[in-house]
This record gives sequence, structure tokens and C-alpha cells, in this order.
Amino acid sequence: MKTYRATCHCGAVRVEADLDLTQPTFRCNCSVCRRNRFWAAVARPDSFRVLAGDGEMTQYLWGRKKNEHWFCKHCGVRVFGIGNDTPIGRMYGVNVGCIEGLEDADFEAIPVTCVDGAHDRWESAPEHGRWL
Ligand SMILES: [Zn+2]
Repeated sequence: MKTYRATCHCGAVRVEADLDLTQPTFRCNCSVCRRNRFWAAVARPDSFRVLAGDGEMTQYLWGRKKNEHWFCKHCGVRVFGIGNDTPIGRMYGVNVGCIEGLEDADFEAIPVTCVDGAHDRWESAPEHGRWL
């Protein structure tokens, strides 16, 4: 585990999370992740802290409203989301693309698992997922 900081584009939202980036991160084909190209590294609630921007975010809820999609109301970037009903309970998904201090080669080395969220099959890869 290492502590990383992640920020939105304009800098209003800053978070900190303890992550193991040698473990799988996630791309999902559901209708909201597809539009946002969200790339999540998983953090447990006690490993995640909002450092700045609590009042600068807007929350988007849809469908069964069990996942919280937060985005900066100034620049629109999603630094993190919250899953309230996952196989491991409540967890935070930190947007890997928002993590500070990583080089292109570091991003390239991070393992990615694609999941079929579009069909509620979170344990399975999508049948057609190469575009993720
Ligand atoms: Zn912002």
C-alpha cells in the first residue's frame, strides 16, 4: 500500500487514498462508465480521505442509486466514485487518471481488469471489451 493524491483538472477537488497499484484496477462497460471512461482503483473507506473540495462537487445518482458518482462542478472531472453495495461492501473507486505523480510508464504498468457492468456481471469480462 502506498498513499496517493488524486485531483480534478482545475484542482478544486483533492483526495488521498492508500492504494496498491500492483493489484487490478477496473474499467467497466456500463452506461455511465462508458461515457466517462472511468478507470477505478479500489480503496476501502478507512483508506480514503477528501482533502479539499467537499463543497465543490456534485453527486449524480441513477438507476437503483446504489453508486455515488461525484464530479467537480467547475471542471467536470470525476476524481472518485462510491459503490455502496459491492461484493466487498462500501468501497471507493479512485480515478487512476487523476492520480498525481505518475509517469506514462507507471500508468502502463498498472494491471487493468475489464468488467461487464452493463449486464450486472461484475465478476466477468465483457464479451466485447477490447475498446475498454
Ligand atoms: Zn475541478
